[in-house]
Amino acid sequence: MIQESNYWLTTISMPPPTAGDLPTRVDAAVIGAGFTGLSAACTLAKRGAQVAVLESHSIGWGASSRNGGMVLTGVKLSPETLAKRYGMELTRQMYADSLASIDLVEQIVCDENIDCNFSRCGHLEVACKQSHFDAYARSAELIAKEFHHGLRIVPRGQLSKEIGSTIYFGGMIDETSAAVHPAQYVAGLARAAMNAGARVYENAQVQQITRASHDGTSGFQIATSRGKVFARDVLIATSGYTSAATPALQKKIIPIGSFIITTEQLSEAVAKELSPRNRMIYDSKHYLHYYRLTPDNRMLFGGRAAFFPETQNTIRRSAEILRRDMVQVFPQLRDTKIEHAWGGTLDFCFDTMPHAGQLDSMHYALGYAGHGVAMATYLGAKVAEKICGGKDELLYAGIPFPGAPLGLYSGKPWFLPFAGAYYKVLDWIS
Ligand SMILES: Cc1cc2nc3c(=O)[nH]c(=O)nc-3n(C[C@H](O)[C@H](O)[C@H](O)COP(=O)(O)OP(=O)(O)OC[C@H]3O[C@@H](n4cnc5c(N)ncnc54)[C@H](O)[C@@H]3O)c2cc1C
Repeated sequence: MIQESNYWLTTISMPPPTAGDLPTRVDAAVIGAGFTGLSAACTLAKRGAQVAVLESHSIGWGASSRNGGMVLTGVKLSPETLAKRYGMELTRQMYADSLASIDLVEQIVCDENIDCNFSRCGHLEVACKQSHFDAYARSAELIAKEFHHGLRIVPRGQLSKEIGSTIYFGGMIDETSAAVHPAQYVAGLARAAMNAGARVYENAQVQQITRASHDGTSGFQIATSRGKVFARDVLIATSGYTSAATPALQKKIIPIGSFIITTEQLSEAVAKELSPRNRMIYDSKHYLHYYRLTPDNRMLFGGRAAFFPETQNTIRRSAEILRRDMVQVFPQLRDTKIEHAWGGTLDFCFDTMPHAGQLDSMHYALGYAGHGVAMATYLGAKVAEKICGGKDELLYAGIPFPGAPLGLYSGKPWFLPFAGAYYKVLDWIS
């Protein structure tokens, strides 16, 4: 039986957190020590703000150390869907932001000297049906025409140059996307934030936030499992782990599980056969698979094998499903050992969009829906600039942020089995 273990964490050590008691007051409290929170903390500290990052568990404990490390262009929804919903001008800005978010990750990695295998290896999307492949050409045309960004279509006959699998109907490549070792990256962000003067407190679960004032400054009193701290500004960066401590946001976030297995190390020859150009790869289904080689040549294979977030049970069941699915894609791995399996929680909003702005006078950035490595870094930094008095409007603050239809949701996603079944049917018929 496969035991739960996160491969990424077996290869790194996280920096030590700030020692000692919480300060009595700070300029800004950031809740959550993932990409969003640490990127924000770094920006805030560099602008001279006193910052405390409050983290329930440990640095990078959430999705930021558990993900596939795919630094992807675009957002979860296709440009066609975005254009229908928001119009072409806003879609253009969203696409440009997604490209800027990758540039920002690259710049941080370079400026802060973060050793995290960042590489612009590009991504490959593979079509599970002929109709999906046909749609690639339309998508690439729209992206070229409206956003001046080039994607390359790979017909089925040429796909072997990109992937050692024969099950797909063709592919589409974006050379701008990148790869990163996510746990090394989040560890590097934490080091950068602390070097800039931010304090990062582990085992500091935020339990309640109330309006308060301190020496004539209005702000928030934050009660944590390690004591209280007053902050003039609060940024909620809790993503799929958003809890009853921030009830208004919890009602807008659907926590959905995503799971990953990694194989034992592959020989150089097999690794090259499976992924000759070392791309970040995902398929065209709603119940999608995403996969890549790790820096030490393991196949990392992920998917939404169970919809509920990670528990021993969902991880074990997902590992079995993912192993079966991986062998369908790569029969070459039939006898290859699985050495690691883990899960993490994605943050889906009801409109499948990222959101950043203010609710109950507190700042937030979340809703990345599995596209968060770059966007979380970017929105964390953008919200931090706003807190420091920046005048730039936040793109994702200007779009509607819907809650559940008819308000039938209090933060416990009772409807996930139905949603899972719905998407399975959609994959079958579309
Ligand atoms: C399995 C998996 C694979 C993924 N693959 C990719 C990928 O390849 N590419 C991509 O772009 N995106 C991917 N994602 C999404 C990406 O990882 C996330 O969008 C991103 O990490 C979100 O970062 P974050 O800092 O907002 O949240 P997180 O990293 O989840 O951090 C939130 C933190 O908040 C803390 N917290 C919550 N409540 C409280 C509280 N009350 N008090 C104190 N602390 C609290 C949590 O402990 C947690 O550490 C994946 C996600 C998962 C789960």
